Amino acid sequence: MRENQLEPNIFSLADGLGPAKVIHVHEPRIGLKGILVIDNVAAGTAIGGLRMASDVSLEECARLARAMTLKNAAATLAHGGGKSVLFGDPRMEPARKEQLVRGFAHALRNESDYIFGPDMGTDETCMAWIKDEIGRSVGLPREVGGIPLDEIGATGWGVFHAADVAAPYLGLALSGARVAIQGFGAVGKHAARFLAEKGALLVAASDSTGTIHDRAGLNVATLTALKESGRAVCDYAGGTRLGRDDIIGIDCDIWIPAARPDVLSEANIGLLRTKLIVQGANIPVTAGAERMLHQRGVLNIPDFIANAGGVICAAMEYRGSSQTQVFAMIEEKIRANTRAILEASVAANVPPREAALQLARERVNKAMGYRRWSVF
Ligand code: NAD
Repeated sequence: MRENQLEPNIFSLADGLGPAKVIHVHEPRIGLKGILVIDNVAAGTAIGGLRMASDVSLEECARLARAMTLKNAAATLAHGGGKSVLFGDPRMEPARKEQLVRGFAHALRNESDYIFGPDMGTDETCMAWIKDEIGRSVGLPREVGGIPLDEIGATGWGVFHAADVAAPYLGLALSGARVAIQGFGAVGKHAARFLAEKGALLVAASDSTGTIHDRAGLNVATLTALKESGRAVCDYAGGTRLGRDDIIGIDCDIWIPAARPDVLSEANIGLLRTKLIVQGANIPVTAGAERMLHQRGVLNIPDFIANAGGVICAAMEYRGSSQTQVFAMIEEKIRANTRAILEASVAANVPPREAALQLARERVNKAMGYRRWSVF
């Protein structure tokens, strides 16, 4: 391939915010191929996950890096946005994975504008290898100073607070509210736990194999223990077993996507029977479907506001904060942001995502104005 044919042209993805830097890494001797996109560093060193998959691309990396710029800015973290991708099957043999992750980190050892975090296909062990290699990663195991964000439920805690702030805008009380959760994993199970502690009723939960439904309520602790033992939600004793995507049509008050991107689209949004959506997953609803939700009066709290708990935890881990401080900060930031975007959305009659984008972009632009290059 000629160099000017590299796909896609990165300048076609650029706008007034970024990307600031794109680095391709290629080490043919070990079959290593990866990309780092640093989108914007106005607020500080970029923080964002390392994704490992066989089908990652520059375009995906750039979109995810931008999402991190907006998420970190909305959460007023002292960090810009970046993302890195490593080509390969994440389920490969561990020694091979370690070689690739270490090799990628080593190749980027001087790129001090970027801090690695975990993402799809990487975990706290990968972050420990990177810390050992270059000393610059978050989402670490406890033994090397980390706060295991999935184990403590950092993102689920934030999703719970977003729901708690949003519910009264619909005249809904969390106590007794019926909740359905798509994806009963690290985000979903903790969101369920915090909501249940406030009296909400988990009426349905799904994983990649099916949906379990009980109008009278599922026992969150039992379902969590079941999943943690490696079994599926449909192995739950009781309730009704349904197909994986039947979770979409469950009659409920709060619907929480916590699995894959683009699970709600124009094609299936009509099936949804809920009042409130709180986005635990990243980009779970297509742009067209979000517009339809707004027209139907379904309140929809966007991903980069509701699921920022994980990155808030990671940024605080980097500064040596304690778990107690992390929980307090997630609560404070996510409640304030959810309230701010809902107020702005009501005042201007725009969807919450539009209000959230405006809030985040204003913060990035303001941070850019403080940088030295802005005065030349
Ligand atoms: P996870 O792997 O722990 O859990 C995902 C769950 O979703 C699993 O139970 C899996 O079986 C299920 N699932 C997969 N495909 C499904 C499908 N089509 N339908 C129903 N269920 C399906 O992942 P996680 O860490 O909980 O992340 C979930 C989502 O939240 C991802 O989009 C992730 O990018 C996003 N997110 C995670 C964090 C975090 O702190 N972990 C932070 C922000 C955003």
